[in-house]
Amino acid sequence: MVARPTRLTPPVECVRLYDADAGLDGVIAIHSTALGPGAGGCRFWSYAGMDEALADALRLAEGMSYKNALAGLPFGGAKAVIQRPEGEFDRARLFRAFGRAVEQLGGLYVTAEDVGTSVEDMREVASESRHVAGLPASEGLAGGDPSPWTAQGVFESMRAAARFVLDSDLAGLTVAVQGTGNVGADLCRRLADAGCRLVIADPNPGRRDRLAAILGATVVGVEEIASEKAEIFAPCALGGALTPEVVRNLKAKLVCGAANNQLAAPEVADLLMNRGIAYAPDYVVNAGGIISVSAEYLGESQSDVTDRVAEIAPRVATLLDRAARERRSPAFVADEMAEEIIAGAQRVAA
Ligand code: NAD
Repeated sequence: MVARPTRLTPPVECVRLYDADAGLDGVIAIHSTALGPGAGGCRFWSYAGMDEALADALRLAEGMSYKNALAGLPFGGAKAVIQRPEGEFDRARLFRAFGRAVEQLGGLYVTAEDVGTSVEDMREVASESRHVAGLPASEGLAGGDPSPWTAQGVFESMRAAARFVLDSDLAGLTVAVQGTGNVGADLCRRLADAGCRLVIADPNPGRRDRLAAILGATVVGVEEIASEKAEIFAPCALGGALTPEVVRNLKAKLVCGAANNQLAAPEVADLLMNRGIAYAPDYVVNAGGIISVSAEYLGESQSDVTDRVAEIAPRVATLLDRAARERRSPAFVADEMAEEIIAGAQRVAA
């Protein structure tokens, strides 16, 4: 077993978001600005309390630093999380209050959609701040919902990883998809087109059952999806899908999905390796969304996004190859590569 390198721990800047009248309660965590402004979406979720929300923001912001660095983007890592108010609330007003908080940071943080937020929400943010992306695209320019770009990057990564790990095309393989939300549903459509068999799970029956009917997917319970008989497991719900227990029961030989922070703990990367299960690191394969968001913020074109998203799958293949040769988890190899990029930028700035 190879010890996991310690992750970068720069001083993290946290900004508390609070506006009782608007129902805003949350935090923005800025993990690193070595490569540029901290960029990462805004999560709108029901947390058990502010401690849990803060922990989530810190973890997600750290992940964004690594993701942005490895995707070659001129951005650091940050994330906003907002506690979903209980009962009735004025959503537009809440996101306008969030927009004012983002604007006050003067460009240190750039926001966009994440779990629980929509293009509509980002429009409200944009009425108060310039430092937002994920808005409808103008002709030829990058912009709009980042989810399809995320799904495309995950799909192409899966194809490249299947070639490397299973020596197989995707056609005929079974993929167990956990979560059929924006990214998961899009990924399922691409996988069905590529000739995969699909097993899906989501506690929300609406989109899941429509998808199953259209694509001929098999629906299983959320407790069963990770141990389904499948060549590939694709976590596309929330973080922490890969616990030691889940890994013990996994039948898949490859894990490749959109969810952020899939490893419930760093040592799970070694558990996967010891069981001979290849892991395509989450933040490498799911970078399509932030690639779109950052290009939109910088006023770049859609073809810039297409080119950069096309670089994700070869990067995943390189990572898996290097990890196999060095007998290390691809998760650690990815972290090391991202850290070299961030440290290089810190040296230049010093
Ligand atoms: P989403 O909210 O649209 O979808 C998440 C889905 O997961 C929902 O349908 C929800 O019901 C389902 N779910 C929740 N708990 C589940 C469980 N235990 N088992 C199965 N399904 C469960 O979110 P999304 O935009 O599709 O994002 C999915 C994941 O990908 C998140 O972790 C997100 O952080 C990550 N991600 C998204 C993007 C993007 O562009 N949207 C980019 C990078 C990473």
